Amino acid sequence: MNRKEFLLQTSALGIGTMLPIHRLAHFFQTPFTTIRRNVGTFTSRGGTIGWLASADALVAVDAQYPQSAQVFIEGVQEKTSHVMDMLINTHHHGDHTAGNLAFKDVAQKIVAHKNVPGLQKASAARRGQTSLDNQVYANETYTTSWKETVGDEVVNLSHLGPAHTGGDTVVYFEKANVAHMGDLMFNRAYPFIDRDGGANIHNWITVLRETISSLESDTVYIFGHGNQEYGITGSKEDVQLKSDFLEALLEYTQKGIAEGKSKEELSTLAVLPGFESFNAPGWSLPLSRNIAAAYDELMEME
Ligand SMILES: [Zn+2]
Repeated sequence: MNRKEFLLQTSALGIGTMLPIHRLAHFFQTPFTTIRRNVGTFTSRGGTIGWLASADALVAVDAQYPQSAQVFIEGVQEKTSHVMDMLINTHHHGDHTAGNLAFKDVAQKIVAHKNVPGLQKASAARRGQTSLDNQVYANETYTTSWKETVGDEVVNLSHLGPAHTGGDTVVYFEKANVAHMGDLMFNRAYPFIDRDGGANIHNWITVLRETISSLESDTVYIFGHGNQEYGITGSKEDVQLKSDFLEALLEYTQKGIAEGKSKEELSTLAVLPGFESFNAPGWSLPLSRNIAAAYDELMEME
């Protein structure tokens, strides 16, 4: 790997911090991982892509960025010659939708929650005209749930209200028993809480708990992002831990507000007790941002 490639791949992580080369090598040499029954993950740049690839079905979940999306599209076509039935966007953020551009002429349709195109457009508009010009939007949307049989798999989408954004989807591959959580799950890393994009921490807790109680005990979960020590797939225990973190975040902040502490005073906390693992190596989002978001949400409710 030459210096230019190294820098490219390092910046491609999108987390703004140099990581040890051996980790990068692992990260980039094995972008495709199979979970079970033709369902797996692809990691390169941005949110984890999930896929279903069999003789009679090809589905992608999330699109990363145009360049890595192209790598995914070429790679997944080595697994099956089937036409790409659909791309699903779990939510509107650029690291999950910018690659829609590469899927535009490949996927038969792009499916997302009904709030996603509007949120995507508003977010692109804040970045300027060039960004607006490069958006490709979902052309099929749903409100609370959506289901389609694809080959011998059944794909279920569900939206349980605002959480990470105002348009999050849980994608469940029923036969494989694998759920893609999008950014409802940052595995053991401080999450981005997009209040401008409609996030709600209180309901996020409910969404996570309802999801694990409605799925199987051995469902495998794919996470949008994760602490590299723990990975981007896991079990219901990982999802439960995230909901417990969000609950502890609200409790800590609520208690501080009751004691008359300011947002700045509360934001100096280095770690929430019991959630030390959330201080993920190389992760750029600090706990202080989460506390600030919790503070704003709680004050809004007063
Ligand atoms: Zn996101």
